[in-house]
Amino acid sequence: SKITGKGRVTQYDAALNSVREQQLAIENEIRSGMERDEFEVWYQPIIDARSQKMTSVEALVRWPRRPAGELGPDAFISIAETSGLIYALGQFVLRRACQDLEPFSDLKLSVNISPAQFRDPEFEEKVARVIEMTRFPANRLQLEVTETYVLENPERARAAISNLKALGTAVALDDFGTGYSSIGYLRRFNFDTIKIDKSLAGLVDNDEQAAALVSGTVRIASALGMAVVAEGVENEKQMKLLRLAGCDQLQGFWFSQPMPIEAIIELRKVRYV
Ligand code: C2E
Ligand code: CA
Ligand code: CA
Ligand code: CA
Repeated sequence: SKITGKGRVTQYDAALNSVREQQLAIENEIRSGMERDEFEVWYQPIIDARSQKMTSVEALVRWPRRPAGELGPDAFISIAETSGLIYALGQFVLRRACQDLEPFSDLKLSVNISPAQFRDPEFEEKVARVIEMTRFPANRLQLEVTETYVLENPERARAAISNLKALGTAVALDDFGTGYSSIGYLRRFNFDTIKIDKSLAGLVDNDEQAAALVSGTVRIASALGMAVVAEGVENEKQMKLLRLAGCDQLQGFWFSQPMPIEAIIELRKVRYV
């Protein structure tokens, strides 16, 4: 531009290029990681607030990424999305999670779904096929979506949600409290569950307003027939306040980190007091 001069523009282009190059490098690593079967699915317990027992788990993808070392999903999911690799990766996570949890009929399963996956007009059919292949009961499965997806194409979202419900699968709204979700918007989509984001739930122990917002959300959800999960519970005080606020289920490091399936099986009889 005229104001900054050519030097700046070139610097900016160079920075953009190197970001793009890094993304391409990770994209290629994801592709070869998938070929080498490097991706794993770990599970984080979801605790029933009344019985204090693990009633469900959330599947979370893990990438040990040999030899470079572990890369967290926040660093690679978006690259998998823009490159289209999320379709295969998402399908892998869903299939593996259903296989892993199938034998444990006392546990439900919640799986994250990217907006990109939902855009696939055959998404619901693919879910139906995984359920059939793995013999995982549809009524033990919940899919977690974010509002980005719902706002992007409300008509498609409504159709997808109702098709999934017809299969018997539940749908949760993830990361509630981070975006623009309003009561009107909650009413238009038939979610089974609202997951209150850790950026709100994690504040209840030193912010009265956050606690009041959680109680309010619980009341709205219950008027709409939706259950509430609080995420990111990290200490006992938060746990107690979130139970008091009426959350149905709790999830966070206070109870357990995400773990491989074998460790989950060991943990599932624990009662969290
Ligand atoms: P999310 O769906 O909101 O998942 C919860 C994240 O919070 C997980 O991070 C979990 O390890 C972390 N977490 C759980 N309890 C606590 C806590 O008490 N405190 C704090 N600070 N964090 C806690 P993770 O596994 O790194 O995943 C990050 C995000 O990546 C997920 O956020 C989700 O959006 C995405 N993701 C993970 N696995 C998948 C997947 O299989 N498919 C898709 N599409 N997205 C995934
Ligand atoms: Ca989630
Ligand atoms: Ca979340
Ligand atoms: Ca998130």
